[in-house]
Amino acid sequence: MAVNPWQPPYDHHAAAAPGAGEPQTTYGITEEIEGDARLKNVVETAVGNWNTVLREVGAQGDLIKRGTQSWPSEPDAAAIQLSLGEVTNPFGLGGGLTTPDCGGPDGNVCKETVTFDRETIRDLDEDSGVHLVAHELGHALGLDHSKYPVADDEVMSQEGTMGVAPPTKPTQEEARAVLALYGGSAS
Ligand SMILES: [Zn+2]
Repeated sequence: MAVNPWQPPYDHHAAAAPGAGEPQTTYGITEEIEGDARLKNVVETAVGNWNTVLREVGAQGDLIKRGTQSWPSEPDAAAIQLSLGEVTNPFGLGGGLTTPDCGGPDGNVCKETVTFDRETIRDLDEDSGVHLVAHELGHALGLDHSKYPVADDEVMSQEGTMGVAPPTKPTQEEARAVLALYGGSAS
């Protein structure tokens, strides 16, 4: 069996919807993203790409759905909340993740807020935008960065995408790693 090049599980991941027959988690977007057709499309493409590859490796339905779950602090919040803000870091990346609300038996099931830098994400071409959202979704779903050596097609690579087209969807290995975290049976 090949060595899994990722580092799952991450230290936390978005919650699976309680009582769902199939593994499922929810995402939500702010009104600011909702009102920006181009950005909303970038988000929906990234979510769709994850769901497509997750199905390819055995998910029975869409693992990531628009919706809400139940949280003690915020009863009608999605497990993965996508928002815009000002994100600055030394790498000049356009996204950041916080973990404001974790629980579960091991304390590692979380409501995640992903914040994209407002200026950066609006300047990106479509593929780069989808890559950024798909990458941050991968973190929210529970994946850390790829380990070396990394392949150009891995969405969880921490490498820059200079000179190569940024991958806009996860590899099947990345999807299998996520499915394992949500109790799905990857094929
Ligand atoms: Zn990252």
